[in-house]
Amino acid sequence: MSTDRGLVLVLIDGLPSWATVHMGSLGGMVGALGGYRGDLRSSLPTLSKPLYHSIFTGREPLASAMASNSSPPPPRDPGNLFAAARALGYGTCCAAHIWVGELFGGTGGELKRFVIDPEGDIQRGIYYWDDAYPDSHVVEDGKHLIGTADGRCLALVHTMGVDFAAHRYGGESREFAQAVMGADQTVAEAALRWLGEGFWVMVTADHGVNRHGLHGGESDQETLVPLWILPPRGGRIPQGAEELRRQLDLKAFVLDVLAEGVRGS
Ligand SMILES: [Zn+2]
Repeated sequence: MSTDRGLVLVLIDGLPSWATVHMGSLGGMVGALGGYRGDLRSSLPTLSKPLYHSIFTGREPLASAMASNSSPPPPRDPGNLFAAARALGYGTCCAAHIWVGELFGGTGGELKRFVIDPEGDIQRGIYYWDDAYPDSHVVEDGKHLIGTADGRCLALVHTMGVDFAAHRYGGESREFAQAVMGADQTVAEAALRWLGEGFWVMVTADHGVNRHGLHGGESDQETLVPLWILPPRGGRIPQGAEELRRQLDLKAFVLDVLAEGVRGS
């Protein structure tokens, strides 16, 4: 495997594996572009903020004293994915919910839309805190950050439209299916561009939702989330992708891909 430009991780908030029947664009990319589709088991609790912390540190939420979205941010883990990517020579950026900025960016717990922090773990961030912020706008924010990145970069693009529709309309609603379809097409369109620019693209979710559109429990509907791995042109699916089962192992896997990108150059 080789990565020229780096890696874009797309986190579709609240997307369960059971809802990917609505996602024919990312699904089609797997066959057409030599990608991989698997499933990951999220950690518990299936709540956003604890899982944002868990995904980027590889630690169980409760081991970081994160039991709910109200839990205060733990001390910054110096081994978090963004810091580790920077140590490998990657720049870091994200278009994400403000809680990501609170945990790993330079927002200092304040509501800040734009943060430039060259010495920080996330060096450039565009944040939102209204859950109705459209997926199309988040992805556009991500395109801007990625398009203006110098050299190699690790980027996070984090959409909220699916989670928002689940809470408002329920997991069995027409509106939820529509939000999932919209996210699929918006993300796939952007992914084609990023792949063409030499980035790996990985797409996953923090947690799923149940048929009521709720999450926080331990059902398969809430804990089983999809993972797509799409290689840039000439790239091969990294070893170990098929063995990935736990969301907790994603951080180490992404780091391996980034490290290999540096070695391969
Ligand atoms: Zn969430």
